[in-house]
Amino acid sequence: MAILRETAAKSILGKSGIADYCVNCYTGCLHNCVYCYARFMKRFSGHDEPWGQFVDVKVNAPEILLKEVKRKAPGHVFMSSVCDGWQPAEEKYQLSRRCLRLLLETGFDVGILTKSSLIARDMDIMHGHSNVQLGMTISTVDESIRRKIEPAASSSAERLETLRKAAAAGIRTYVFLGPLMPFLTDSDEQLDRLFAAISTLPLESALVDKLNARPGVWNAVAQYLRRHHPELLEPARRVLFNADDAEEYRADLRSRISRIADAHGFKGKLQSIL
Ligand code: SF4
Repeated sequence: MAILRETAAKSILGKSGIADYCVNCYTGCLHNCVYCYARFMKRFSGHDEPWGQFVDVKVNAPEILLKEVKRKAPGHVFMSSVCDGWQPAEEKYQLSRRCLRLLLETGFDVGILTKSSLIARDMDIMHGHSNVQLGMTISTVDESIRRKIEPAASSSAERLETLRKAAAAGIRTYVFLGPLMPFLTDSDEQLDRLFAAISTLPLESALVDKLNARPGVWNAVAQYLRRHHPELLEPARRVLFNADDAEEYRADLRSRISRIADAHGFKGKLQSIL
């Protein structure tokens, strides 16, 4: 059973390698994605529960942020780097909503990345602000796989619909396609469906990335593969950890993505970070 704990944060506007700052109103994420890169945060959390089964709610986040925006220089803020700011607890606590409003009103640029259609609730705040860009992660449009690898996140169809509504409301949008799981969500057929699904959206940009087997990530992915796709375990391990296979895999994936993206009208518009 998932554990939710209310905590008090000392700081909210943190340093980030992705942007000038990051804001994370939660520690932990109940979306429980198999490939989650933020699972290293467990060791700072004091929780014994597995990653994906606990969330600490920083209930004073907006109050702390209000103090911090007064003394820190405006810059670009990424929401959120080590959790999903719009995960289920946000429906009740509205911490990311309040922080987003504060950041936009005080002249910060905000980049949002989420897998939750709950963000649609906060379009009223984003409306009319050119200093915010809303992104959705879409790793696959195959719901039978999505349900297993991102079990508590919104369906891909809901995410696409949320982006469509946001763009219609004049909000700047982008997608992050990934991480592509080797031999599971990166086949030509899967990529074709993925690009077909996003090709009708008025996106400002699209980014695509492969799976990066960071510490702790491979264990979780391997456990998932062992259970659901045992035949993919060894091929995936080879392309993630064997240098020659990894290079060959990356080159092949880049070339297939480029061809399929071009076919769907993304020529020159796609940022690949493979
Ligand atoms: S939504 Fe992001 S932070 Fe949350 S479990 Fe999934 S990958 Fe991790």
